Amino acid sequence: MQFDVVVVGAGPAGLCFARSLAGSGLSVAVVEKQPLQAIEEPAFDGREIALTHASRGILEKLGLWERFDPADVSELRDARVSDGDSAHALRISSADGRSERLGWLVPNHVIRRTVAEAVAGQEGLGLVTGCGVQAVAGRGTGIEATLEDGRVIRARLLVAADSRFSQVRRMLGIGAAMRDHGTRMMVCRFKHTVPHHHAAWEWFDYGHTLALLPLNGNLSSAVLTLGPAEMDKAEAMDDAALAADLQRRMRGQRGEVTMTGTRHVYPLVSVYAERFVARRAALVGDAAVGMHPVTAHGFNLGLQGQARLAEEVLQAHRNGADIGSDAVLARYQRRHNAAALPIYAGTRTVVELYNSQRPLARVLRRTTLRVATRLPPFRRAIAAHLTQA
Ligand SMILES: Cc1cc2nc3c(=O)[nH]c(=O)nc-3n(C[C@H](O)[C@H](O)[C@H](O)COP(=O)(O)OP(=O)(O)OC[C@H]3O[C@@H](n4cnc5c(N)ncnc54)[C@H](O)[C@@H]3O)c2cc1C
Repeated sequence: MQFDVVVVGAGPAGLCFARSLAGSGLSVAVVEKQPLQAIEEPAFDGREIALTHASRGILEKLGLWERFDPADVSELRDARVSDGDSAHALRISSADGRSERLGWLVPNHVIRRTVAEAVAGQEGLGLVTGCGVQAVAGRGTGIEATLEDGRVIRARLLVAADSRFSQVRRMLGIGAAMRDHGTRMMVCRFKHTVPHHHAAWEWFDYGHTLALLPLNGNLSSAVLTLGPAEMDKAEAMDDAALAADLQRRMRGQRGEVTMTGTRHVYPLVSVYAERFVARRAALVGDAAVGMHPVTAHGFNLGLQGQARLAEEVLQAHRNGADIGSDAVLARYQRRHNAAALPIYAGTRTVVELYNSQRPLARVLRRTTLRVATRLPPFRRAIAAHLTQA
């Protein structure tokens, strides 16, 4: 099988990249190890993805935003951050930014389904499902991906979008700095009696963190981070016990709580690839940068990264140049690293500071929040970052 581009992984990053090449005349193969049904009808996975204005812009350009059912899109107008029992909450309001909304929440499975629907029938696109890539090798002016069933796909460029635990990254000889935070995150939806007014809330407590994400109606998503023993206990609770536990942790902020739907637990591992490119290959999405979810930047960064790579590839294609050349890939590497590194490093600092039980870290985090609360320019800078188109 011969294509211009082969994308490994039909997750949101890989499929958005394939969609970015629509109409260019480039042929694209997308290889996904999960069966077709898991791509066409992805199950609810508990993740509610907070999208920035810049991400909305990219999704609009890809013709995806208008495909979302408005009932699935919830506005984010306010964000509050509290430290333990402290009365000082840092409040980032949409009034600090350039828009009435800081961003939007869209369920991950809805994003996945929508982009899968959009690429179905895309001219020049071939989707191979139910079979993973097990080897990659450079061959002359191209690259080959060998599938688990022995089939070989040849292309001018290979794009790995096969998750933060990317096997293809390793096959390409690219290392990654990984940090296992030793904690797990539970995500689940609940109904409540006190309205949220579309405000998100994050409590950095001692030994655990809890975030509440406002969904449409009196419905929210709880994002609970706990150490292993505490998480084992939470997972063993029935719905009534978990609701009571969350109600206690959120200090009555949402009134009475009733669990609804399934719970999902994720190990927390941050990953930053040593480089995002190899000969005739590039990493996108979590395979390049796997963020800790606390700052809700993973997919936002993945969307931007795939857009940068697509820009470079399309530019080369228009100029009649080689789309997989070292020069094209070096430009992507430079641009994406410059954008991703500060966000990754900033998120790591927040995570280390708020996970640490050392007395100095406790003082530092409380002081940081108090200072930030009293610094309107700081609040405005965060709001501007989120609302920047
Ligand atoms: C709890 C939680 C909350 C989050 N909240 C936010 C948020 O609010 N905002 C935000 O921006 N981000 C958020 N994220 C991050 C976001 O979910 C990820 O960044 C995004 O899903 C990554 O997409 P991806 O396509 O890179 O990888 P994935 O979604 O992991 O997809 C990878 C795909 O590759 C396939 N694959 C793997 N190996 C192979 C192989 N060898 N051959 C073929 N296929 C293969 C897999 O089956 C899968 O379909 C959150 C993450 C978590 C865990």
